[in-house]
Amino acid sequence: MEFKVVGIVGAGQMGAGITQVVSSAGPHVILYDLEHEVLDHALAQITHRLNIAVKKGKLTEWVREKILKNIKLSTKFEDLFQCDLIIEAAPEKEEIKMEIFEGLDELCPKTTIFATNTSSLPITRLAATTDRPDRVIGIHFMNPAQSIKLVELVRGWLTSDETFARIEQFVEKLGKTVIVSKDYPGFIINRIFMPMINEAVCTLTEGIGSAEDIDTAMRLGLHHPMGPLALADLIGLDTCLDIMEILYTEFADSKYRPAPLLRKYVEAGYLGQKTGRGFYQYPPESSTS
Ligand code: NAD
Repeated sequence: MEFKVVGIVGAGQMGAGITQVVSSAGPHVILYDLEHEVLDHALAQITHRLNIAVKKGKLTEWVREKILKNIKLSTKFEDLFQCDLIIEAAPEKEEIKMEIFEGLDELCPKTTIFATNTSSLPITRLAATTDRPDRVIGIHFMNPAQSIKLVELVRGWLTSDETFARIEQFVEKLGKTVIVSKDYPGFIINRIFMPMINEAVCTLTEGIGSAEDIDTAMRLGLHHPMGPLALADLIGLDTCLDIMEILYTEFADSKYRPAPLLRKYVEAGYLGQKTGRGFYQYPPESSTS
């Protein structure tokens, strides 16, 4: 593997999943977040998933230990200095990501590549906060990162061919299939998919069908593996709202207006599986947080 030490910024559901994928492929991972509890929770989730794989005979105990040894947890931003690739997976808020990129740019050697797992924010604008826009790229893992094979790579306007080629090779070595998107709001996946979730919320709001019937319609009628409302609960309703806000602002087009009911759920703290309640309710043992 070309990258020996990979930093992951943000240990939420995506950061934890990406850490599992990368550490399983060989590189050391420094998983950084603001709070120890978040990091401990991420490691517990990864360990739990690896234990299940061992029980099912898909992984040996020795390999599980090797993967876990590859992971270092840190709340010290300076620890990211030693990374040759950093993947940012902090919340979908431009100001948070910009601050992280500015900090990383000051901290890291000029050779370090910065990637973001953003679902919708412009890579070119995030890259412009650094002095190395040629070394900034979008690596959009799907959720759950450890099991979904697709990764959407997004080139900023100034991403160099060399950066793109190195990252494409890295992602393929993680066992993923790459698609490439231009740097346009929502890229390919969320340009199509997030308005569909938003429309499902509008359909629910207008009382056209129950949450269960809307989801069943899409699962059985259109062969989607999960219904849009259940999937929104998995993604996090806060993240869905953030993405809709970005599409709405960037395109300045009313067709991307976030559903008011989605906003209400977020205001109420019903964020989906991670808080135990969204369009559905989740008993504590099935919650992802
Ligand atoms: P999350 O809320 O589960 O996790 C975000 C983590 O970032 C939290 O642990 C939080 O403590 C941490 N954080 C906040 N500020 C930070 C900072 N300044 N420095 C370091 N860490 C910080 O969110 P998530 O669902 O994991 O999403 C993360 C990113 O991945 C977002 O950009 C999102 O759009 C993208 N994404 C999400 C999904 C999904 O289905 N949830 C899928 C693909 C991409």
